[in-house]
Amino acid sequence: MKTAILCSGGDCAGMNPALKYYVEASLAGGDTPHFIYRGFEGLINGDIREVSYPDVSGIVARGGTMIRSARSERFKDPAARAAAAANLADKGIIGLIVLGGDGSNRGLELLCEEHQLRGVGIPATIDNDVAGSDYCIGVDSALNAIGRCLDQIRDTAASFRRAFVVETMGRDSGYLALVSAISSGAEICLIPEIPFDLDSISRRMRREFDSGREYAIAVVSEATDASNQLVSIFQEELEIDSRLTVLGHIQRGGSPTAFDRRIAFEFAEAAVEALQDMSKQATFLCYRGAAIAEHPPGALGTLFPETLMERARLLAR
Ligand code: ADP
Repeated sequence: MKTAILCSGGDCAGMNPALKYYVEASLAGGDTPHFIYRGFEGLINGDIREVSYPDVSGIVARGGTMIRSARSERFKDPAARAAAAANLADKGIIGLIVLGGDGSNRGLELLCEEHQLRGVGIPATIDNDVAGSDYCIGVDSALNAIGRCLDQIRDTAASFRRAFVVETMGRDSGYLALVSAISSGAEICLIPEIPFDLDSISRRMRREFDSGREYAIAVVSEATDASNQLVSIFQEELEIDSRLTVLGHIQRGGSPTAFDRRIAFEFAEAAVEALQDMSKQATFLCYRGAAIAEHPPGALGTLFPETLMERARLLAR
């Protein structure tokens, strides 16, 4: 079977490992993998190429995506999707994997419905906002990138009696901000999911600075639009020198973390397998259920999930 993969929407660390393991799993299963360059734009333009092992050699540690990503307004037009489907048909491709967020999944769903294609969506976005998935590829790398910045900002904040307001990405989701605040021990965190009261925060900070606090760090999600207000509160109400740091695109992650590489591997294997299922058109993969639980007594020992065991067997041959 001929299949293809593309990256859509914001890029993230972990897309490259997903591409590598897609190619490997496809070839191992007897499929012919293809790359589509620059997302749905490239699909409309017919920028499609058959690939093999040498094309993915050495990419596992690289951030971003080697096949590039794009946003494509045109893809919302049924005529553009018909052109895209015709390009796939020309090459004999019947299955398409898309790495992206909710918008990309919607595009894939429409393409599959309208043109009887098989599709699989893999959640890959630092925003961690794909419906039904606890985790999206790229989030851990983004959290680590933000964490390194926050640790460095703490060093300078502590040296200077300053309040730092650090704005994180995440579109409408506060996930990156909240987890970064917890991981870095920030004093304040503002996210769109939780109502906040800047007056109450101001009073708390006044009490804390009066009783010896030397510096403060606030992590603010871009979706709240509250970063500048918070800086003014520190500056004008509390008379604490305050700075705003907008982290911007460094959050996209750099080299993918071990966790993102492993999850990319599992998603890619599952996607290649899902494409074999003739009974379905579009399938949307998700990651769900990681939770703290109590270990039953007497049941010690590590059980790897079957996908990891299979890989272990391959790597031991
Ligand atoms: P994400 O996939 O991260 O949510 P976007 O919302 O920017 O990112 O969507 C990425 C791309 O998916 C868009 O540029 C467009 O090509 C496609 N897309 C999004 N929504 C739709 C839609 N309703 N119909 C068709 N294509 C869509």
